[in-house]
Amino acid sequence: MYLMNLSMDSFREKLTKVNIAVLPVGMIEAHGRHCPLGTDMLIPRRFMELLEEAAGDRIIIAPEIPYGHSWSLSPFPGTLNLPSQVLGAYVYHVGLELKRWGLDKLMIFNGHGGNIPALRVAMEDLAAKGMTVVVINWWQDFAPEILEICQGQGHGGEDETSTVLAIDEDLVDMSKAGVNNLRTVVTAAWPGMEKETLPFAQTGDATQASREKGEAIYACIMPRLLELLTRLEQGQLATK
Ligand SMILES: [Zn+2]
Repeated sequence: MYLMNLSMDSFREKLTKVNIAVLPVGMIEAHGRHCPLGTDMLIPRRFMELLEEAAGDRIIIAPEIPYGHSWSLSPFPGTLNLPSQVLGAYVYHVGLELKRWGLDKLMIFNGHGGNIPALRVAMEDLAAKGMTVVVINWWQDFAPEILEICQGQGHGGEDETSTVLAIDEDLVDMSKAGVNNLRTVVTAAWPGMEKETLPFAQTGDATQASREKGEAIYACIMPRLLELLTRLEQGQLATK
């Protein structure tokens, strides 16, 4: 159930049966020359549609947060880069408000790597306030499944481009899809690093992307996501 579509009365009634909120978080950011600036929000949105279809009666989907943090790609046209601290504090306060109404379990569905440090801090701070919080970074958490379908991954790379193509092929200009295998030797940041490691705001091989691969990625991740939802419902987040 989408929170935005509920009335005050239907929300109150829903709270008698549901205590899990799902919060999609994305980014507006350059994704190569071929993918849209909203890539990292469009993909979580699609996952939310699939989650609503499969388990809408078990969750309340909170309105998305489209702005995130991206230092290294901020020089590229269209990137809207918020400080990590701003994003973390915003997510934390949204989480607290959801808890105030009894939604004390939270699944944060993240579409963007640069958001991870902020979301980790928010997750821990919300847990300290009594919430149970799961952060899903889909391209990382489900990398083994994705790599059964794609040869590689990347920012605007084969997997991400495929998942956008599966939403709407008109969103991607495959004639501009590129290949970039540059990276930093270890975790590093320096002024102007994007010119050396991200010359056109993309990593990986986008030329290998296809709509079929994208559809296969959604199809293989959804059962895993539903499994996680059940674990969150039952309080079984520890595993061997
Ligand atoms: Zn992305």
